Amino acid sequence: MHEGWIVLVKNNKIEQAGSMNFKLPAGTQVIELKGYTLLPGLIEGHSHLFLHPYNETSWDDQVLKESRAERTARAVEHAKATLLAGFTTVRDLGTEGAMYDDVGLKIAIEKGIVPGPRMICATRAIVAKGAYGPKSPSPDVILPQGAAEVANIGELENEVRTQISKGADLVKIYADYRWGKNGEALPTFTAGEITAAVDIAKSGERKVAVHATTAEGMLRAINAGVATIEHGDNGTEAVFKLMKEKGVALCPTLAAGDAVQQYRGWKKGIDPEPPGITNKRKTFQLALQSGVTICMGGDVGVFTHGDNAREMEMMVEYGMKPLDVLRSATSVNADVFGYSEKIGRIRPGLFADLIAVDGDPSVDIKNIRKIKLVMKDGIVYRNY
Ligand SMILES: [Zn+2]
Repeated sequence: MHEGWIVLVKNNKIEQAGSMNFKLPAGTQVIELKGYTLLPGLIEGHSHLFLHPYNETSWDDQVLKESRAERTARAVEHAKATLLAGFTTVRDLGTEGAMYDDVGLKIAIEKGIVPGPRMICATRAIVAKGAYGPKSPSPDVILPQGAAEVANIGELENEVRTQISKGADLVKIYADYRWGKNGEALPTFTAGEITAAVDIAKSGERKVAVHATTAEGMLRAINAGVATIEHGDNGTEAVFKLMKEKGVALCPTLAAGDAVQQYRGWKKGIDPEPPGITNKRKTFQLALQSGVTICMGGDVGVFTHGDNAREMEMMVEYGMKPLDVLRSATSVNADVFGYSEKIGRIRPGLFADLIAVDGDPSVDIKNIRKIKLVMKDGIVYRNY
């Protein structure tokens, strides 16, 4: 944290940052932010711009009953709300049935047709055949799926290459899902399959994000050389130790679990805590103690777009220091996602993605909601 800094923006880049020991070029527009905290634009690590909260419409119904046009119209609104909340970049981890429309939305934002964050797009998540949803009650009825199904290693390799050709910035795969006899989460892809996907993605300089909640699913993904584990609910000490060793980051998505439990009727602060929540807090703390790199990503879409700060508040609630949470949401996410030369810091040469908030969010994380200014790519989207 610095006092009295000046940041000089030219076109869409940060040209200078530091104390006032340089001359402002003639005609510079000055934005005074006395009493505010200036930060790099926040980076949402796990969004679904093509989903909206499940207490409004169930995930199944969004996938099966909403038209692609409706879903796109919603996504446009979600993108705007995200940007105005100070999140100037999102890593969008799957359109959940909306095919490659995240890439289309990204291009529309880049062309300036609609306001929104920078998008790092996964297109469709990749799942093992038969493991995902929506589930059909009849074996004779084949329902459209919320992700790309693959049945063998050849199909998996084909899918990774296809997605990259259609604009995927990274690849998302499910290492496990709820396909057990009793609906429990079990590993889906073999270690070899995950490794094959990672090998292709790496050749194309794409990172792999892996949904995993089981210890075995996490282990297979970590050993395959993925960049991030999403959720990680049942990570053990040994799993987190290996993550640290191999430089795999955890994106814990605390807010999604918290939201889903409340949709199921849990009255937070009144009812006893559901075991899933207690377990989640424990594993998050275990990951923190193990020194695993923690990304900030809430699985927003499960809850309201623009309310991304909910994850940051929960990270503090579960024991992370506010300053570390701010790092997660800026420089750490940029580094882990491979964008450290573009975003995530206030440093000359990086894109002018800047926000200002009232008060000091490193003292009270809630201040991150008190948005005064949002600049993305040198353009001011909010200043009041
Ligand atoms: Zn997700």
